[in-house]
Amino acid sequence: SLSDRLGGVFDRLRGRGALTEADVRTAMREVRVALLEADVALPVARQFVDRATEQAIGQNVLRSVTPGQQVIKIVNDALVEMLGADESTLLLDVTPPAVVMMVGLQGSGKTTTTAKIAKRLSQGTLANRDRKKVLMASLDVARPAAQEQLATLGTQVEVATLPIIAGQQPVEIARRAMQAAKLQGFDVLMLDTAGRLHVDQALMDEMKAVADIAKPQEILLVVDSLTGQDAVNVATSFSEQVPLTGVVLTRMDGDARGGAALSMRAVTGKPIKFAGTGEKMDALEAFHPERVAGRILGMGDVVSLVERAAESIQQEDAERMAMKMAKGQFDMNDLRGQLAQMRRMGGLGALAGMMPGMKKAQGALQQAGGDKILIHMDAMIGSMTPKERSKPELINAKRKIRIAKGSGTTVQDVNKLLKMHQEMSTAMKKLKKMGGIKGMMAMLG
Ligand code: GDP
Ligand code: MG
Repeated sequence: SLSDRLGGVFDRLRGRGALTEADVRTAMREVRVALLEADVALPVARQFVDRATEQAIGQNVLRSVTPGQQVIKIVNDALVEMLGADESTLLLDVTPPAVVMMVGLQGSGKTTTTAKIAKRLSQGTLANRDRKKVLMASLDVARPAAQEQLATLGTQVEVATLPIIAGQQPVEIARRAMQAAKLQGFDVLMLDTAGRLHVDQALMDEMKAVADIAKPQEILLVVDSLTGQDAVNVATSFSEQVPLTGVVLTRMDGDARGGAALSMRAVTGKPIKFAGTGEKMDALEAFHPERVAGRILGMGDVVSLVERAAESIQQEDAERMAMKMAKGQFDMNDLRGQLAQMRRMGGLGALAGMMPGMKKAQGALQQAGGDKILIHMDAMIGSMTPKERSKPELINAKRKIRIAKGSGTTVQDVNKLLKMHQEMSTAMKKLKKMGGIKGMMAMLG
């Protein structure tokens, strides 16, 4: 899975600070493969990966997950955002009849979805709370018995269908349906149109002529979620010819990975309003971007794992710090932990108020060169011996020279670090005397 592949790429990076551009680009190569495997159309996958790459570079790596897992979380969030929020509503607030027109390729599920939506509207269980009086009409004269198919479904879901008159053409049927809907006081008219095996101009012209007459409030493009790389062509052709208002993805009950959803959304820019999840008349659901994103990446658990890790880190650190403080200790190891946390939390800017004495230290750090100094300080502490780290008072002039050399800094820098540690540990001792551990815990919260 994508998870395994990314794990391999990133294991050596565990807990190493911010995601670098090189790291992210390596990971995104795997993400791109996963998207293509999920049937996301190539140009859409490319566009998405560029966007996600921008968002991921520079983000901090959480301690208890691998950077690979974190990239997955970032990619997941970007996917959910791009797939769009729940918008399972239809615009029906017009002088009746409101017209809903279904378009799409043959076999995509137009007729089935027409009846499913009509059922919900007439029961008052779609977006509407009031029951609508619905009329369905099939304009499909190309496929034998297509009109009868809709009539049968109509009987099944107890929704009226326009009487069939043999030999009428789609435009004539549309005109007759409009008239019937107006005269008989229907709230909603659903027009089920003919499809083709492939997009062709005759189909498009017929569709446009019908739209001209019926002036639909909603034109829904029905797409089989198993549509792979062709999804972009389908979406492009239809959205160029008629003003789509939304998309319905059918066969989401099958083993489709959901890539078509992303392609549809990217190309049409229209919301995915419903998902068909079976052949039965009740198998229609709101579209859930989170679920589909999880399906595209094939890894729902990794996402929640990363979310939990992000939450637990602050808690963990606060507890450890409180224990140290209770003992009146604060050594270089603790300082190093604090510096790492600062970087994780977005650098010095996010620091103010987090730790006693840190506000003062923050000013000093800003003067010393801002966020870059955090990395230098980490290097300096890295160059100390374990003894020096737990007992900083051991660090004399000679040791300072060694530490500066080892970390590529100057003795002056080492002095600044020691001073900062001194200030922080004084602040903590004071706080301890005031019995402020509880207050401190509350503050870290
Ligand atoms: P149309 O040619 O676009 O009108 O497609 P139909 O509505 O006639 O559907 C074609 C076939 O797909 C039928 O056998 C439907 O039962 C089936 N179908 C439609 N939607 C779904 C769905 O969401 N899930 C599944 N499993 N089958 C579906
Ligand atoms: Mg049909």
